Amino acid sequence: MRTIHVKSAQSFLNRVPAGSRLGFDWSLNPYRGCTHACRYCYARETHRYFDLSVGEDFERVLFVKSNLSRRLPQELRKIPPQQVIILGTATDPYQPLEGRHQLTRAAIAALAVSGHPFTLCTKSPLVERDLDLLGPLGRRGQCQLNVSLITLDEADLRRLEPGTASPTRRLQLIHTLAAAGIPTALLLAPVIPHLTDAAETLDALFHAAQEAGVACIMASPLRLSDAVRPYFLSQLAKSFPAQAQNVAAVYQDHSHPDPQTLARIHTQLARLYQKYGIPSRYPSPRPFRVTEQMHFSL
Ligand code: SF4
Repeated sequence: MRTIHVKSAQSFLNRVPAGSRLGFDWSLNPYRGCTHACRYCYARETHRYFDLSVGEDFERVLFVKSNLSRRLPQELRKIPPQQVIILGTATDPYQPLEGRHQLTRAAIAALAVSGHPFTLCTKSPLVERDLDLLGPLGRRGQCQLNVSLITLDEADLRRLEPGTASPTRRLQLIHTLAAAGIPTALLLAPVIPHLTDAAETLDALFHAAQEAGVACIMASPLRLSDAVRPYFLSQLAKSFPAQAQNVAAVYQDHSHPDPQTLARIHTQLARLYQKYGIPSRYPSPRPFRVTEQMHFSL
């Protein structure tokens, strides 16, 4: 049973903390909560701001920021044109709610007009609906898309990300986006120690992503905040009983894997980057100076 709150938001652009090495200035999330329900999701923590749980509440109590079309263009006019925005840090902007509310589409339309560079992260093929907007923006270097996929093993994925599209469908999605001229990355995050970090698992993903046409692969090991760690480990005990203890041992009471595990994952990844000749980053998206004529062409 889902509860959906449709409410006005006071603001849409959230400042990324100064000194962050992520390369983004602002984050933008049209929704709160996410029915994709990834067990490891660090954004679960954000539901605590509403006195809701990081577990089922995050997947079932959803917030729709209904005044985006009116408010976001005003906020975009107030920030420098070269500042980079990231969509999809606290929710998947193309989770099923988007089919009805179309706030992500409205956000992209506002960015098309403002010219701000942006990156969008998703696991959902619903993004294909907006290729008419994203194609021109990608080809002019204003946007990049990150498609998240952590394993090709369908059964493991169902247990780790019960609400997401299959690996095959996501590889097709990467192919479609790349073929449309949009710089597209595989977001191989998180790499989960003892679950998705086997050399052959990672190698298969690199291979499949390269075949699909990615511009780069961005990988990082699982980070577990104090708020999310107990939930994730309890889910693992149910769905991966044979591996759960090993995973817990890697984290102890820390948010990062122990140094030995971290070094092993980084070494494996470094080998794969070299083997496939794929970069681990792409250049930042560029601002676009929009003319009236461009408005009409979109
Ligand atoms: S799709 Fe992204 S935001 Fe949604 S649950 Fe999964 S990791 Fe979290």
